[in-house]
Amino acid sequence: MLPLISAKPQNLSPPLSFHFPLFPSSPTSSLSFHPPLKNTLRLRIRSIDAAQPYDYESHLRTQHIKSQSLKIAILGFGNFGQFLAKTFSRQGHTLLAYSRTKYTDTAKSLGVTFYNNPDDLFESHPEVVILCTSILSTEKVLQTLPFQRLKRSTLFVDVLSVKEFAKTILLKYLPAEFDILCTHPMFGPESGKNSWDGLPFVYDKVRIGNEEDRISRVERFLDVFAKEGCRMVEMTCAEHDRHAAGSQFVTHTMGRVLERFGLESSPINTKGYDTLLDLVEVTAGDSFELYYGLFMYNKNAMEQLERLDMAFEAIKKELFGKLHHVYRKQLFGNADEGAEDRPKVQKLLHNGAPPSAESVKPETS
Ligand code: NAP
Repeated sequence: MLPLISAKPQNLSPPLSFHFPLFPSSPTSSLSFHPPLKNTLRLRIRSIDAAQPYDYESHLRTQHIKSQSLKIAILGFGNFGQFLAKTFSRQGHTLLAYSRTKYTDTAKSLGVTFYNNPDDLFESHPEVVILCTSILSTEKVLQTLPFQRLKRSTLFVDVLSVKEFAKTILLKYLPAEFDILCTHPMFGPESGKNSWDGLPFVYDKVRIGNEEDRISRVERFLDVFAKEGCRMVEMTCAEHDRHAAGSQFVTHTMGRVLERFGLESSPINTKGYDTLLDLVEVTAGDSFELYYGLFMYNKNAMEQLERLDMAFEAIKKELFGKLHHVYRKQLFGNADEGAEDRPKVQKLLHNGAPPSAESVKPETS
């Protein structure tokens, strides 16, 4: 609301009069000031709250936002980097970015200053550097960064979807003075497009210095996600990878299998089918490189893929087994009744070799 100030020339010099409201910050409060000079202006400020720059509460609020805001550099300004930038920017943080591709215009539209090389970016001394590069490229990227241009107390954060690998390479390549926070926001541009409320955010404070300002900085960074309503889950990188292989990797795999399968909407979609269509949409939005990274750099992923394969085979076997039973009934009628239930005796041949399929007979009582 704009301040309402009326300025009227006065012929007579009116008595000096102030009117103090009972509640100074009430929006209806008013202050009248009649100056004692001839031909002067009569000022009437009708709303003190509207005069923002002088308002104590708004001043405090601005100061609070400033004290909480961080200077964050985003490395890797692709799909996920841009997605994060939207929320960081809305919360009032100062944002810088660098990526191998030039995203100058996109960055500008998001209120982010884009740098064409990491040297210039690092010389701007961000407090937090957040790595949003692909799982496969991150180690290579880390090997080329000019860390010597950063302040020695910089906080490095990664968002890679695999955590043990991220932790290992950050500890390997970052100077010992830097703080390290490994995180995984377990949502993306599709699943978190409307809100982050209730979505899990996993983090592991791998190496944070004891100084008060370092501790408070990491809390302020985590607060970015907490403020959006994320479910904050602190766990080790190893624990994360165990859980994520069984949930996230399986989800991505099923989404991709169904996409290859060619799932299409029909006029009689059930709720369950709609869920499958949603799954395809959510996973198809992510790059194959990301999916491949989940497989390559999470040591638990292979086991989950094999379990999925075995589960699929087991289901097929159960179905075909039932089908086989129906065929037998049609062929042999009741004469064969109970044969399926009788235990099969597999007698080994004298030479110890298993018998042929025909020689396996149901056991007779
Ligand atoms: P992505 O395909 O995993 O990564 C794309 C990013 O990596 C882009 O910024 C790209 O830079 C950069 N990049 C790829 N190859 C590079 C190379 N050789 N050298 C330098 N930079 C390279 O897709 P994403 O969805 O944006 O994911 C980014 C990170 O966020 C990944 O580590 C992923 O695990 C994590 N993450 C993603 C999601 C999600 O839902 N998408 C959720 C949580 C965490 P250019 O664009 O400049 O080429």
